[in-house]
Amino acid sequence: MTQTSSSQRNHWKNFIAGQWVDSSEILMVENPATGAVFASIANAGLEDVEKAVQAARECVNKGLLSDCRPAERTALLLRIANEIRAISDQAAELAVLENGKRLTDAKDELAEAARYFEYYAGMADKIEGTSIPLGANYVDYTVYEPQGISVQIVPWNFPVSICARSLAPALAAGNAVIVKSPELTPLAITWLATACQRAGLPNGALSILCGDGPTIGGALVSHPDINQIVFTGSVPTGRSILHAAAERAVPSVMELGGKSAAVVFADADLNQLIQSVYWGIFFNAGQVCSAMSRLLVERSVYEQVIERVKILAEELSIGAGIDNADLTPLASLAQQQQVLNHCTQAIAQGATLVTGGAVPTELPGYFFQPSVFCDVSETMNLFQQEVFGPVIAITPFDTEQQAWDLANATDYGLVAGIFSSDLGRCLRGSKALIAGQVFVNEWYAGGIETPFGGTGLSGFGREKGQEALYSYVRSKNIAMRVTKP
Ligand code: NAD
Repeated sequence: MTQTSSSQRNHWKNFIAGQWVDSSEILMVENPATGAVFASIANAGLEDVEKAVQAARECVNKGLLSDCRPAERTALLLRIANEIRAISDQAAELAVLENGKRLTDAKDELAEAARYFEYYAGMADKIEGTSIPLGANYVDYTVYEPQGISVQIVPWNFPVSICARSLAPALAAGNAVIVKSPELTPLAITWLATACQRAGLPNGALSILCGDGPTIGGALVSHPDINQIVFTGSVPTGRSILHAAAERAVPSVMELGGKSAAVVFADADLNQLIQSVYWGIFFNAGQVCSAMSRLLVERSVYEQVIERVKILAEELSIGAGIDNADLTPLASLAQQQQVLNHCTQAIAQGATLVTGGAVPTELPGYFFQPSVFCDVSETMNLFQQEVFGPVIAITPFDTEQQAWDLANATDYGLVAGIFSSDLGRCLRGSKALIAGQVFVNEWYAGGIETPFGGTGLSGFGREKGQEALYSYVRSKNIAMRVTKP
């Protein structure tokens, strides 16, 4: 059975080794723009975990992906990319309904998912080893083999593109993958399974299970037969998964949260900055791990920047994703309450509220006003803690060194940004900032080709780019004596 569009069918199933599998228990899925339940999905049980692992093991043991000619995997991934494009309208519509995001952004997310498959299709036949000279009596070479079963735990903010980001390189390298989809937004991601199935991915090479995080995610990451964990989500969950991984020393990639700062100097182009502020903190209602949640501004332009960010925030249209409003709802009631708590606390700790800071009472669903705080000092929670909402904290600085020190003064290290027309300063900052990626004069200047990941509490390992592929393989060296002593 394949999934059909949401208008025809409002109950969804898990995808286990080529089959759509129902469950006696279901999870309800809400539309955050209204708060109303509009669909349900089978809530996977532990027996589903077993089925998925067994099927994945069979796929690995039979070498269904790993033993074929690499060019066949290239062709397979290209077919998956095409199938994703074919289902992107239905999947984007579902992404809007379940997540609240703008339709244009949901379409971009689907397009990005297809691009991941194209990008890693181009690498599937270039995973080359090396040969190491050891003299006339020896042959030595190193090969890259797939890890085996890759368990991938996906969060709710960009489920489709984050899933594709790990799934595509894992399949390119010949692994079997089990995805644990997020409980809040489990629907659009099922279309990836449909695309893979239509493209002819062998059964067992992919399962997608939705279920309770600690129960189903926990069972997957502690399963004795898995070979790799790729986790994208919050720090507390990452920590708990790392404990499970430590038991069997399972290699892991951790893509965790952030509290990323843009450093703005007086010589920056402020028009360019303001465009970046929109994408940095108001896109996807600020529910982005690499959001520009802090703005550090040189004192001589501090008031001017606050005013411009205030105007930007107050001019945003707030509304449903299907209408492509500038600011869409948060993903859940819990998320809305969390963002409100952060704002209330920021005020109590002495930050100055410039605009926003509250739930708009005239709208149903889980909206939150675009919110700007200034005079946020290093010791305040708003400076240190991830809000995951449309809330920006602005802080002044006086010297270049102070700017880098403030940017680095959190436990996170996902991304950072510099806005300046002084190239020398941009280069100094690129070195001084502690982050996995530094954007200069445009937030999100990178792409799927550029390695992405964190340091500190933002995690370790890299996704995107050529570098990511090497998380999905393990190196083996073969050292051979070819003559008798
Ligand atoms: P979360 O940690 O609550 O959940 C993420 C996933 O983990 C979900 O699928 C959940 O069901 C599962 N899970 C929960 N407990 C588990 C357990 N004990 N064992 C295994 N799996 C478990 O995170 P979230 O609220 O969905 O996402 C928001 C967080 O994700 C933010 O902190 C954000 O910064 C981070 N994030 C990071 C990136 C990145 O690439 N660095 C991207 C997106 C989101």
